[in-house]
Amino acid sequence: MNKLINLELFDTKVLESPHMNIPFSPPFIDEDIENEVLECLRSGWITTGPKVRDLELLSAELVGAEKAVCVNSWTSGAALVLKWLGIGPGDEVIIPAYTYSATALVILHAGAKPVMVDILEDFTIDPEQIKKAITPATKAIIAVDIAGWPCEYEAINAIISSSEVRSGFLAGNDIQHQFGRPVLISDAAHSMGAIYKNKPAALASDITIFSLHAVKNVTTAEGGIICFSLLAPFSNTEVYKWMKLNSLNGQTKDAFTKSQSGGWRYDIVSMGLKINMPDVCAAIGLAQIKKYPGLLLPERERVFKHYASFFAEKEWAIIPPSDQKRCKSSFHLFPLRIKNIFESQRDEIIQKMADVGVSTNVHFIPLPMLSLFKELGYKIEDYPITYKNYECEISLPIYPQLDNTQCTYIENQIEKAYNEVV
Ligand SMILES: *Cc1c(COP(=O)(O)O)cnc(C)c1O
Repeated sequence: MNKLINLELFDTKVLESPHMNIPFSPPFIDEDIENEVLECLRSGWITTGPKVRDLELLSAELVGAEKAVCVNSWTSGAALVLKWLGIGPGDEVIIPAYTYSATALVILHAGAKPVMVDILEDFTIDPEQIKKAITPATKAIIAVDIAGWPCEYEAINAIISSSEVRSGFLAGNDIQHQFGRPVLISDAAHSMGAIYKNKPAALASDITIFSLHAVKNVTTAEGGIICFSLLAPFSNTEVYKWMKLNSLNGQTKDAFTKSQSGGWRYDIVSMGLKINMPDVCAAIGLAQIKKYPGLLLPERERVFKHYASFFAEKEWAIIPPSDQKRCKSSFHLFPLRIKNIFESQRDEIIQKMADVGVSTNVHFIPLPMLSLFKELGYKIEDYPITYKNYECEISLPIYPQLDNTQCTYIENQIEKAYNEVV
């Protein structure tokens, strides 16, 4: 109640002041996070060690996965997963055209071909388009939980597990043979804590990769986590060991184990990557993840709902999905769409918001509109829903520190900008 009264008083002030200054996505740093980092700095051990181990255990628990492997970004985590699957030249991986470039770049780096398909109205990859795009060369699908909203995993799983797809699947090695179908990888860069069919969304795919980049729901400045609960004949313990080894130069002992007395001797057994997460970074994520379910995620939901209840009343606005029987978002983004506007009008609204101190964003510039992918022959005309969603999309700031007064300010400024532009 008090909060509401204060808010009203403050609102009058807001109208008088020239403008607020609202960044798009500052990291959440409080005293507990500072203390966890300080403890690490003072412990004498700052690279991969006990903090990483604790973050792996806590994140596996949070998403109900058997194993979690920390690495230094989503991108390097995805590269490691493709390496484990032995995906390379001649192989195809299906992805949505509407995503961040990293989803496609890791496939190119592996020497394979990203096959882009269009999305559904809710921004997630269209299962029917996946079905049409599958060929005998399809080794994996990377589905992206855009904004924290889980993909149609049940439909995707049904397609890749169908006898038609299984019988056409050409395994290139033992691991692919054991799957016996294309592997479903979730680009969960946005969706830590999202729920799909009453379970953590991470359980709906074969392998889930989170990003802990500075703007994501939980951060380690830069970082990523690979989660999996593979079924027999896979041994999750063995896969975990492989991933740890190959995230550190294929070295049989990490620096922490080597540092223990008498443990100096090691061997190099494979051509591993060097993508391990340092403890000093893990400390940030560890302190954050402890307050994620109880504080950080609910606070994001508060901001989301504030926007949703304002824009639901405006006939010109389309609010993103957040909570249905099927799933619950992790509220990473608030991708507001404005009906019947062109790209240039959307850009004008973004500029007007910047003029009044509100930093907004667009998620994402479709891959076929970026130079690299254009040069590779992808054409935006082939992805009509991707373009339609992109041209009218504005991502509003959403993070725990954003208070209700700021939300109200942002809402009013969007409405004002809309009225001026349209
Ligand atoms: C942020 C992001 C990534 C990349 O994450 P990094 O940790 O920066 O490598 C991948 N996919 C999506 C959808 C993202 O938003």
